[in-house]
Amino acid sequence: MTAVQAGAQTAPASASQTHAHVTCPFCGLRCDDLEIARAGQTLKVTRNGCDKAKAGFERPLTQPMPRVGGKEVSLPEAIAAAAALIGNARLPAFGGLATDVDGMRAIMSIADKSRGVVDHAFSEAQGRNIKVLQTSGYIMTTLTEARNRADLFIIASDVHTFHPRFFERIVCNEKSMFSEAPPKRTIVFLGEGYDTSAAVGTRIGDVIQINCAKQRIGEIVSALRTLHKGVPLPAGDIAGVPRSQIEDLLARCHKADYGVVVWVPPDLDFPNADLTVHQICEFVKDLNVKQRFAGLSLGGNEGASTAVSVCTWQSGYPLRVSFATGQPKYDANLFAIPKLIASGQTDCLVWLSTFTADLSPPATDIPTVVIGSHDLKLAKEPAVYIPVGTPGIDHKGQLVRCDSVVSLPLRDLERAAGLPRTVDVLAALEAAL
Ligand code: SF4
Repeated sequence: MTAVQAGAQTAPASASQTHAHVTCPFCGLRCDDLEIARAGQTLKVTRNGCDKAKAGFERPLTQPMPRVGGKEVSLPEAIAAAAALIGNARLPAFGGLATDVDGMRAIMSIADKSRGVVDHAFSEAQGRNIKVLQTSGYIMTTLTEARNRADLFIIASDVHTFHPRFFERIVCNEKSMFSEAPPKRTIVFLGEGYDTSAAVGTRIGDVIQINCAKQRIGEIVSALRTLHKGVPLPAGDIAGVPRSQIEDLLARCHKADYGVVVWVPPDLDFPNADLTVHQICEFVKDLNVKQRFAGLSLGGNEGASTAVSVCTWQSGYPLRVSFATGQPKYDANLFAIPKLIASGQTDCLVWLSTFTADLSPPATDIPTVVIGSHDLKLAKEPAVYIPVGTPGIDHKGQLVRCDSVVSLPLRDLERAAGLPRTVDVLAALEAAL
């Protein structure tokens, strides 16, 4: 481990610097066109970006020491204390998992060695898609395909709040890969309470709002499927939406050259939301018999798409996976860390949260090791706290984009915070087990 990796503070190589083409790690879109200026150890987003990116890059740097039982210690001492807790645990649980590809590979290796369980903080949300993929499959597109080909977007979540530049980069682009003046696009907002302010610009044609509770989107899509198949529906409104509006939407779908239904799994936060995703995916399949239509799932914030991809590459399963028997076993219900904590099955929590200050570990009495960002909010002092660098700010790395088709390289913005890389901390931790 080098001096920097061991936590020693060093001065930045130059007083100020501007980085172009920076990839943003703060949501699943992974915009790669940011410009970040650094003055000393202070960062500023000077081109592109959004409020979420500014909040992530520009937050003041604090430089905490590792702690054991609330007492400041050296990094090797903190690693030794963490290794002792994990090594003595009956079933260690590795949660949060907000890290880059290297960090996730390293945590998989430790979970395997210590016979623990891995579960991302957003597994419940990601699971809404995975259940559908496992049971009936789906037809999905990518951000690039949607940006260049789609002429109809059905927005079935509050996309702008979760991914502030989705409209700017994917929907409102004035040119496409195939045309300097592509035709206007129709935007249909399906649901209510969404921030629709970004659906503006010369590329945008009709903007239609279909108001219904998110919990009832599945009913609307089910009605679309029924009408599409020529099966009669009872007269009257459906989920509070006039029948004429649903028929109009179906006609627009039939006329589209390339329609896309967009949703954000964490925003469909109600019981059995996988059934809504299922209806959307089946509608897309129905339409594809005669035309081109696709789903586009966003999400992937806090490294969620990276965690599920790496877990699948290495274990053969998406999250949640247990290595308790010495081989990977997948069960999305059984291996949910909140349930393992509540039932007393796990006796040690390792929480990985390296991007933002807000993905805090759950309040629990079981011994907790936190490997986290320098300003991570902690409701309770953990048994061990090891501050680490943020991938894409303090060191290079890679993150999988929300459409899971590419991994974007992350830059070291050279603020020389002296914060170790998660992968180095975890390598030392595994060696100490
Ligand atoms: S939309 Fe997401 S990836 Fe793009 S700049 Fe904002 S937070 Fe970063």
